[in-house]
Amino acid sequence: MTTTRFAPSPTGRLHVGNIRTALHNWMLARQAGGAFILRIDDTDAERSREDYVEAIRADLTWLGLEWDREERQSARLDRYEAAFAALQAAGRLYPCYESAQELEVKRKIALGRGLPPIYDRAALKLTDYERAAREAEGTAPHWRFLLDHGEPIAWQDGIRGSQKFDPAQLSDPVIRRADGSWLYMMPSAVDDIDMEVTQVLRGEDHVSNTAVQIQIFTALFAAQFAATEGAAKMLPAFAHEALLVGREGKLSKRLGSLGCDAFRERGIEPEAIIALLARLGTSQPVEPIADRKVLLAGFDLSTFGRAPAKFDEEDLERLNAAIVHQLPFPSVRDRLPAGMDEAGWLAIRPNLGHVGEAADWWQLVTGPITQPAFSTEDKAFLAEAARLLVWDANPWALLTAALKEATGRKGKPLFLPLRQALTGMDHGPDMGELLPLIGETATRTRLAQATA
Ligand code: GLU
Repeated sequence: MTTTRFAPSPTGRLHVGNIRTALHNWMLARQAGGAFILRIDDTDAERSREDYVEAIRADLTWLGLEWDREERQSARLDRYEAAFAALQAAGRLYPCYESAQELEVKRKIALGRGLPPIYDRAALKLTDYERAAREAEGTAPHWRFLLDHGEPIAWQDGIRGSQKFDPAQLSDPVIRRADGSWLYMMPSAVDDIDMEVTQVLRGEDHVSNTAVQIQIFTALFAAQFAATEGAAKMLPAFAHEALLVGREGKLSKRLGSLGCDAFRERGIEPEAIIALLARLGTSQPVEPIADRKVLLAGFDLSTFGRAPAKFDEEDLERLNAAIVHQLPFPSVRDRLPAGMDEAGWLAIRPNLGHVGEAADWWQLVTGPITQPAFSTEDKAFLAEAARLLVWDANPWALLTAALKEATGRKGKPLFLPLRQALTGMDHGPDMGELLPLIGETATRTRLAQATA
């Protein structure tokens, strides 16, 4: 069974990059008939906020990315204690006493010498006496995971292909702070084991974390760590997607704050966001596909490119319009102006960039409208129209045919004054569909007004 997870930290709102990761994990799970877990990474008690948790849920719900289970790291602290104890017993953890400033100095020295800023494992060389002295001074240790430098860490990445890391080129990660709280690295691996996550799909910024976590997984498996007796002790499959960049090809600050609120405010449909993000950065064309089944059927990690995916807000607007043009009446009914029925929606829909604009166009039907001033010839033409108007199943076709015949006008001189008199606009929805909605009485009144 495929199990994926989306693991936001509730320290802010979801932005378009998070939404994309959530979507792809949702798609992997749904495509395989598996489970999609929402995991709230809230071990950082100071920065995590309950209102962000609620906003994350609301955003995923609005996007239609329903999850099968919600997990919270703050509710799993006993599991992290157990994992910590197991790793400690296996000799894979060591206490460190450096202050943040000391670490920063070490980093600067390394960089100054042109060396990578890898932690020098000084704490590992402390004698028992030195450690006791630090503790006697009142310095509580933070804890690092001892990477095994024995052999390269390798995996087959679902997007990046064959990956290889030399563990000696990585710092032993700090997994626990001096105050006892947890950093991201170990809890995430513990959760992936306990929740039997089979596929970890996340951003490229996590590639080196994966290398570290593979060693944490392996160490935990070796220590017989598992939530259930028969749990399959298998590494999940890993895939890292290229980051999302702005139109100019740069990591953009704007993208980091662009989220569901902004989309909703601008009248962007969830389906437009889904259609764009499902395929952006893949070799498949971005198309206005409103049917998720279609998107799911073609979803394939092997189509993902390694170049950053460009997110263009204008593409989103275009896609949104094309999606709106397909929306069936029942799915928008609640957002339409009072009195607007299915025929009204179908007539007006092709003119919309956003559903919210329906009200402006509906105003043409209900009135009042403002007509331009007409020339004497146009007034005579419109008076002729009023005389020739016969109200039947298709009054517009009949009227224009009769006027063409009677006046010899065709094209713009035939259609434009009529449209202006009947709607007050130079362009707009198909008049054949609009006229029956305007109705005979209003049509006659408007023609009379135009010629007055
Ligand atoms: N909370 C982590 C993040 O938001 C989760 C990363 C992961 O998917 O493991 O970056």
